[in-house]
Amino acid sequence: MSVNVAEVFGQDVFNEAVMKERLPEVTYKQMLKLMDEGGEVTLELADIVAKAMKEWAIEKGATHYTHIFQPYIVSIGAEKHDSFADIPEGGKIENSFSGKDLMMGEPDASSFPSGGLRATCAARGYTAWDVASPAYVKDGILCIPTAFCSYTGDSLDTKTPLLKSCDAVSKAGVRFVRMFGNLDAKKVRSYVGPEQEYFIINRENYLRRPDLVYAGRTLFGAPAPKGQEMEDQYFGPLKTNIAEFMADVDEQLWKLGITVKTQHNEVAPGQHEIAPIFAPSDAALDSNFLVMDVLKSTATEHGLACLLHEKPFAGVNGSGKHNNWSLGTDNGVNLFKPGKEPNKNLQFLLVLACLMEAVKKHSLLLRAVASNTGNDHRLGANEAPPAIISIYMGDQLGEIVDAIVAGVPFDELPCSHVGVLDLGVSTLPVLPKDPTDRNRTSPFAFTGNRFEFRMVASSVSIGDANTVMNSMMAEAFNKACDALEGAEDFEKATIDYIYKVMKENKDIVFNGDGYSDEWVVEAEKRGLPNMKTIVDAIPAYTSPSTLEMFEKLGVMTERELTARREIKLEEYAGLINIEARTMIDMASKLYIPAVISFVNSVASSMSTVKGAYAQADTSAQQEILVKASSLLAETQKALDDLKEKVEQVSTAKEYHDIILPAMAALRAPVDELETIVDREHWPVPTYGEMMFEV
Ligand code: ADP
Ligand code: MG
Repeated sequence: MSVNVAEVFGQDVFNEAVMKERLPEVTYKQMLKLMDEGGEVTLELADIVAKAMKEWAIEKGATHYTHIFQPYIVSIGAEKHDSFADIPEGGKIENSFSGKDLMMGEPDASSFPSGGLRATCAARGYTAWDVASPAYVKDGILCIPTAFCSYTGDSLDTKTPLLKSCDAVSKAGVRFVRMFGNLDAKKVRSYVGPEQEYFIINRENYLRRPDLVYAGRTLFGAPAPKGQEMEDQYFGPLKTNIAEFMADVDEQLWKLGITVKTQHNEVAPGQHEIAPIFAPSDAALDSNFLVMDVLKSTATEHGLACLLHEKPFAGVNGSGKHNNWSLGTDNGVNLFKPGKEPNKNLQFLLVLACLMEAVKKHSLLLRAVASNTGNDHRLGANEAPPAIISIYMGDQLGEIVDAIVAGVPFDELPCSHVGVLDLGVSTLPVLPKDPTDRNRTSPFAFTGNRFEFRMVASSVSIGDANTVMNSMMAEAFNKACDALEGAEDFEKATIDYIYKVMKENKDIVFNGDGYSDEWVVEAEKRGLPNMKTIVDAIPAYTSPSTLEMFEKLGVMTERELTARREIKLEEYAGLINIEARTMIDMASKLYIPAVISFVNSVASSMSTVKGAYAQADTSAQQEILVKASSLLAETQKALDDLKEKVEQVSTAKEYHDIILPAMAALRAPVDELETIVDREHWPVPTYGEMMFEV
């Protein structure tokens, strides 16, 4: 099956082309203006758009409409479907969808985590049409992207703060580039290209693993004989069924107007990656939700299961979401582009200084927002960046920053020129070399014209991470503007400012191996925080520097941030609780009965053999019997211990300090039993079957 991208691209989206064709010209122009600049949406305009949207959606086979929103924490968007059917006078059913239906919805918000923002009895929540994000038809439903807020106006989703941070960085960014004479820029946009990693396993295997079904990751499992040590999976050829699955995913996403471009196998067996072309960060947020949604639903249709969890399998790499991020003006200047001579590029160096200041100041917050319960298994585990935030500049910029920090005068700053890659084979072309090598070990790496925030968890929304990055840059830009606007000698003042800020924040730059033990020691010397668990990082949501930044920029209030902190902590406790209960369930109902039956069969084999021939050597059976019985006893003991502890804890910290070790103590004997008990008796699919038999 081959699909022509150009033909299907965006066919299910109520995009500019459709609006142009179906809306009266004035309305179309009003919509373009609203999409670009924002402003008040009148009911009159909404009525006209709703009518055209409804007709278009019905032609596409839609029977229902829904406001799509992304409640805080829930990874995949939320939706509540209403059919177009309405009973007007005369009793004849007509398709109805008014401007009011388009503009606003009121789902009951009481069941979403609120972090104490409101009581269940005061739970009105509103969804408001996000004009800038196009509506689309998916599975017979007209989907309208919206922002989600409470009756009191507090934002309850991941999108509203992101939109506010886009405004903040735009305002500050325009002010910033004005200083350098760019008078035409009216906007600075933040762009994001999220690379999404995921695992695919057989659906049958998935359904037979309660831990995957309830917790999204395996809570037991002995390693398979083969892991990722041969690294033969990375970029390897796709299996036919995986290729078919990916082709189907691509086609659906193209129809939804999402420019997915790269798909490849990742490092771990059964692991893959998909990346769209970068887009403005609010659009990237919506499309990343859709990517996750389509991956999951398409996998099901293909008899597969898509695992978005950060660490589905112990012992092999987990999944992340590399958040490629840049800032650019609406007149085409990428603020993160060093140009040919970055050593002389004052604007670029000032951007870099601001970035160093911002990342250093908000490193704990970055750590907190990028992560979740599942990511704790990855960070610092030699597969993902460590839990310490630092910036990787690459050779060329690293050299310049080092020189500035060392006090080398501005006109003597070095600039190693970007070379060529000559492989020394006459038939191979000489290729231009990238100015930076890759540093996979850095959480915040410069990659030529953007920064790649590599800490983001695979299943979380990219909203929070980008909200923080946009806001921290807005704050640093504003500070630079306050200091430099109106300076008598702008160039000199700027150079002094760059030197001062880079010197003050030099410790955040690290160009070495982030996986090494030496870095952990060095980072501690530098005073950089190393938060191994998210539980310790979450309080950064309401640290004084966070509150000050967000309140000043109008991105989030103390109330909202306090609620988010509480939601994150509740989520942690809630998820570990589910994991612990799932382990208790699996141990009591699956593993222990299976081992008892196995031990029985070994015991009866012994007596049968001895009965047939009293002198027979049954030492092997005996050894197995002794070993299995002792592990069984250990399992039962650990199970009782976990059961007891789970009843006693409530806070995230207690779940981390008390329940996680008790879970590990239960897993150990069960995993060892898996290596002894024969396959026939083992009650669930093994690591090998899940990762290799796809
Ligand atoms: P990698 O080589 O890092 O795996 P990929 O090609 O898989 O790179 O993904 C890189 C992502 O970065 C893509 O989504 C790409 O569109 C995005 N990207 C490229 N340039 C920019 C930019 N200036 N700003 C933001 N994202 C960008
Ligand atoms: Mg990639």
